[in-house]
Amino acid sequence: MTSLVEAAPALFVEKAPLEANVAPSMPSLVGLSRAQLADVLGDVGVPVAQRKMRVQQLWHWIYYRGFTDFDSMTTLGKELRAALAERYTVARPEVVAEQVSIDGTRKWLLRLPGDPDSKLPHDVECVYIPDTERGTLCVSSQVGCTLTCSFCHTGTQRLVRNLTAGEIAGQVLAARDRLGDWPGGVRPTDGVITTGERCVTNIVMMGMGEPLYNLDAVRDALLIVSDGEGIGISKRRITLSTSGVVPNIERAGAEIGCMLAISLHAVRDELRNELVPLNRKYPIAQLMEACRNYPGASNARRITFEYVMLKDVNDSIEDAKALVRLLKGIPAKINLIPFNPWPGTKYECSDWDQIEKFSQVVFDAGYASPVRTPRGRDIFAACGQLKSATEKMSARERMALRAMAMTDD
Ligand code: SAH
Ligand code: SF4
Repeated sequence: MTSLVEAAPALFVEKAPLEANVAPSMPSLVGLSRAQLADVLGDVGVPVAQRKMRVQQLWHWIYYRGFTDFDSMTTLGKELRAALAERYTVARPEVVAEQVSIDGTRKWLLRLPGDPDSKLPHDVECVYIPDTERGTLCVSSQVGCTLTCSFCHTGTQRLVRNLTAGEIAGQVLAARDRLGDWPGGVRPTDGVITTGERCVTNIVMMGMGEPLYNLDAVRDALLIVSDGEGIGISKRRITLSTSGVVPNIERAGAEIGCMLAISLHAVRDELRNELVPLNRKYPIAQLMEACRNYPGASNARRITFEYVMLKDVNDSIEDAKALVRLLKGIPAKINLIPFNPWPGTKYECSDWDQIEKFSQVVFDAGYASPVRTPRGRDIFAACGQLKSATEKMSARERMALRAMAMTDD
């Protein structure tokens, strides 16, 4: 197969500069750490001696109870509530559309402050996948993605910017708002919903964007989400998926300590260069080394390797055997993902019997190899299908972007 990179025409396509977001006139406290909340309280005149207690109270209202305004935060006292409301909000990203799949999967379109010049809204999608006793929220880390994996719809999006910690943690808050998932909340009656005590029990950073290209904000948000006095989702139930930003893998382990998933998809550099162009910068051997060194990886805390099944591209029995050899010595789980098609893609999903044969090789080598059942396909909510509807890019532009990703530092 000829390399897409070599075939790319020399066309310059400008992606929006990262960090081009414009803050709303009143900042939201959602996404602030305890230390940052203490600073806010200092700004509105709370004496140093009271700040720790006030931070605890605010934390409880925002992250445990899920309150959306200061008025009802009764323990704060009337004056402090008024002082906060004058300068701050507890707003989360605005939900502008909700789609519910026949299988109960929900996709929300969230609108974020954008760049006033471009007139384009900054949209991200967030997906909720309910199961009988649990529910997984798939959270985005960027608007679009600067990387250009050839099988992923998000990578074709022109507009790219990093989300703030508030916008990342805010997706969890917004989802819990919609699901009535706060103490005393009322669950929606439509769609299939978990019967467990909590709707959102797991988080996967597998929405739009590359989380390790926005590590600081992702870290801050995940530390909030896992905090036991607030939302309290254990770090073992939070998985960060990366296409392989090697230098940041160790930092993620040390600074977040959540579960790790690697979007591997190919076992040879030549093919992975094409599917996941970042591989040219950080080839497979380096990636495997980073996995071996991932803090906390053990048989009880395995690293998940994601492998998208692309017909006649990466799905041979030889590939399956090579995959098993590659992962030797790494505490690993293998997640086979049937390719989810999107308009204009050149790939097809592997045939079902080929996926089964592939899976058998992996299973025989001692790995659990669940095939991830596509969820929410009817609402385009499955892996790699997320893309802002306002964004369109031609195949030619896509190829040029792929070429740019090679030279990008
Ligand atoms: N950027 C991160 C996380 C978001 S993508 C990453 O790449 O890991 C989440 C997962 O969906 C990744 O494993 C990605 O490779 C996979 N994916 C992307 N497009 C897909 C598609 N069309 N069908 C199936 N999986 C896809
Ligand atoms: Fe970005 Fe992940 Fe899609 Fe690759 S698969 S383009 S890294 S979102």
